[in-house]
This record gives sequence, C-alpha cells and structure tokens, in this order.
Amino acid sequence: MPAFTPQPAMLASIRIVLSHTSHAGNIGAAARAMKVMGLSELYLVNPRQFPHEEATAMASGADDLLAGARVVDSIESAIGDCALVVGASARTRSLAWPMLDPREFAAKAAEATREGPVALLFGTERTGLTNEELQRCHYHVYIPSNPDYSSLNLAQAVQILCYELRMASPERAMPAVEPESPKVGSADLERYFEHLERMLNSVDFIKAENPKPLMAKIRRLYYRAQPSQEEMNILRGMCKAVLDTVAQK
Ligand code: SAH
Repeated sequence: MPAFTPQPAMLASIRIVLSHTSHAGNIGAAARAMKVMGLSELYLVNPRQFPHEEATAMASGADDLLAGARVVDSIESAIGDCALVVGASARTRSLAWPMLDPREFAAKAAEATREGPVALLFGTERTGLTNEELQRCHYHVYIPSNPDYSSLNLAQAVQILCYELRMASPERAMPAVEPESPKVGSADLERYFEHLERMLNSVDFIKAENPKPLMAKIRRLYYRAQPSQEEMNILRGMCKAVLDTVAQK
C-alpha cells in the first residue's frame, strides 16, 4: 500500500523550470514533453531566445504551454514559493547533495504537492545547473545513464522525469479498453461441440468409427481458448453455413 494517495491536481502543482536555456528548440521540445505527460507549468529563467519560431515548431501543438510560460529573471522568482525544489543534474558535484533516482523523485514530488508547489530545475545545455542553483535544491535527481556519456538532451531529460511524475500520479491509468463480450459457459460449449461434430461428419472430416480421440483434442483446444459469446456466434455460424451448403448438394 502506498503511504499516501496522490491528489488529482498533483501534476498541475509541479512546475518545470528551465534555467538559461540556449536553444529555443529545446524549450519547445520540453513544452511538448510536459504536455504529453499532463504537466502545464513552465518557467523560463532568462532564456537566450524566447519567444522564437523554433520553440513553436518544436512544441508541435504544445504552444499553449509556451504562451502560458512565465519568463523570469532570477531563479528565486521561479522557485521562491515552492515547498520542494529538485535540481536535475547529469553529473555528481564536488559537494554531494541528497540524490534521488527518477522514481524516488516522483514519489517525493507527489507527496510534496500536498504542501505547496513543487519545482523541478533544469540547467543550460552546455554547462548544466550552476552550483549556486543546485545549492538551492532540497534534492538532486540523476537519470541513471552511461557514466562515460551521461548527459541527455535537455528536453529528453524533461520527458523522462515528467513520465515518472505521471506514473506517480492518479492520471497514470491506461486508456480504457472495450469490455470483451463475456465468455461462454460450458453448456454453450457442449452445444457447440455437438454442432461441430455434425459439421465435421457432413464433410467426411471425421471418418473413424470412433471420433472421440479427435473430439477430445478439439474440446481441449476450445476449453483452453475460452471463447467469448461473440466468438461462439461466429463459430456456430460457420458450422451452420457448412451444414446448409452440404444439405443443398
Ligand atoms: N553538459 C551539462 C548537461 C547539460 S544537459 C552538464 O554536464 O551538466 C541539460 C540539462 O538536462 C541538465 O542541466 C540537467 O538538468 C538535465 N539532464 C541531462 N542529463 C541528465 C541526467 N542524466 N540526469 C538528470 N538530469 C539530466
């Protein structure tokens, strides 16, 4: 049992903060990564280019997030009111900080949304978060990766962490599938075996005096398959069509 139940508004309480992003395309791609996972709060600390056509192109339908993005001139303005601040970092720093993996991060973030807004910070493409920025965080989160090549593209890092947030949220459910037609009971199966046996006889498929060994294997097959009512209707229809055709000859 989870220790607490995530609130429906959880994802809306988590903001993504991109600090000093160099490439506008990454801002657009990050917005898209957020929107597909149901996040909407985007903060941009001193972006080099924004708004920008490359951001819009890469957002690909998530331009509402770009339009709603808050552009601020200090990290303080982006995180000052937050109950929890976590910095995403591609490498360990000389002064070790409490470190979470993405799943642990999502669980902590989900819990903290009960106390107030949560911020997840991302650094610039070239140098990452500064030590000053990282020292304003309660935790760091590291996406496990190749130690010799550990730096993901900014928007891809946003994607992975937003996915984990979604998986920790009440919105994690898979899309509902059409309920399958109910399985038939054994009385229906018995009527079908009788029908099938008549059909197989009519086309001389069953030639032996004693059809029992063959029918036993067929029975085993259908009991294993557990056909639904709809499938049974199809099978019965096939038997009927063969019997009707044979009868006309
Ligand atoms: N070259 C930079 C990384 C920049 S990647 C460096 O060495 O720090 C841009 C941002 O994506 C990073 O600041 C970080 O916020 C995020 N990021 C990239 N790879 C990551 C990883 N493996 N784990 C956590 N965050 C990551």
